[in-house]
Amino acid sequence: MNGSETMPAVSECGLDAGVERRDSRMHRPLCRFCEATLTTTFVDLGMSPPCQSHVEPHELNRMERFYPLHVWVCGECFLVQLEEFVAPDEIFSEYAYFSSYSDSWVEHARRYCEEVTRRFGLGSDSLVIEIASNDGYLLQHFVQTGIPCLGVEPAANVARVAIEKGIPTVVRFFGQQTAREIANEHGQPDVLLGNNVLAHVPDINDFVAGMKLLLRPGGLITMEFPHLQRLIEGNQFDTIYHEHFSYLSFSTVQRIFDRHGLELFDVEEIPTHGGSLRIFAKHTDDPVHPVTGRVSALRVRERETGFDSLSMYSRFAPQVAETKRALLEFLIGAKRAGKRVVGYGAPGKGNTLLNYCGIRQDFLDFTVDRSPHKQGRYTPGTRIPILDPSAIRAAKPDYVLILPWNLQEEIVAKHSYVVEWGGRFVVPIPSVQVL
Ligand SMILES: [Zn+2]
Repeated sequence: MNGSETMPAVSECGLDAGVERRDSRMHRPLCRFCEATLTTTFVDLGMSPPCQSHVEPHELNRMERFYPLHVWVCGECFLVQLEEFVAPDEIFSEYAYFSSYSDSWVEHARRYCEEVTRRFGLGSDSLVIEIASNDGYLLQHFVQTGIPCLGVEPAANVARVAIEKGIPTVVRFFGQQTAREIANEHGQPDVLLGNNVLAHVPDINDFVAGMKLLLRPGGLITMEFPHLQRLIEGNQFDTIYHEHFSYLSFSTVQRIFDRHGLELFDVEEIPTHGGSLRIFAKHTDDPVHPVTGRVSALRVRERETGFDSLSMYSRFAPQVAETKRALLEFLIGAKRAGKRVVGYGAPGKGNTLLNYCGIRQDFLDFTVDRSPHKQGRYTPGTRIPILDPSAIRAAKPDYVLILPWNLQEEIVAKHSYVVEWGGRFVVPIPSVQVL
């Protein structure tokens, strides 16, 4: 067929490259798990810079790289996912996130170590390996009780902190290649764990296949990841950022593990990161750990919620747009009333929220963060100065917008002095709320 029959004449629209443009718009990524073509949008948050690329003062006159935050849902396996735009070594080789700067996170890790040690009878002859071990916030608790452990962490600056604390750590990305190397050099673990890493892996098949290779026969895997159901219910669109490639339901993870010869035998719902799942997996042919009723119960609940049909996913985007309008309405009202508003925190989720909503110093005078690695820098894209938390007391703002809303209780308790001058805390998610 001659293309000119269906195209408007060139002079009508001026698009002599119309055919080519149509083709480029039809670019469709492939599902990172099942390789089906992705055609259904979950939510499109526009363009955003990588969330940990905080801007240094000498970079303020330079441009930043922005990438799409367009989230798809696979029509075949229902994996909700971002396309990979930023190479993992660019994101993770010099990472600014140190887990130990959150007290409640370290406490969560301590309790986890106690539970796992008790439930699975770990001792001085066991081996625990943690993937994405960060600064040793978790493994330090195993070291203290004399249980041999090894961390695997790709960010060299973060791994160095762990090594200085006495936690053996190899600086490597995890996948099948690393799994073989570690098994040769250190042996196979009884417990292989990874918290908040599964969602951050671009090649999820290589990663899970690597866990299958590394795990000792009879051993177990535990992982924690934010639960997609809670993301949707809690309107947590700000947990979408480039480092976070996959948004996981229990059913999808079960499908992925199953394909690689691993079976989920238990699951817990835990409150971290706005609502996460802690899964327990074993080799599929391993009879040691019986499958609990919680596995089938959660699977049924997800099916009843609609996780196996595309229509449920399409309801998310309008809800996100409304949240943006409501937050801006609040901020515009506060500023028009002459109020002073500052931020608390400079987390990854804050970057998505600020960029998507277009919040800059016209709304927030500054934000603060406990991490000295962020202080003195500026939020990516929105260029809001990041100061030491003592700046709040000095500025006496009317409102403090909490960006890491998952830590709101800890933050409100620690900075309760804002009431001395009539200040109030505000959380933006699930909808704007003045505390
Ligand atoms: Zn798929």
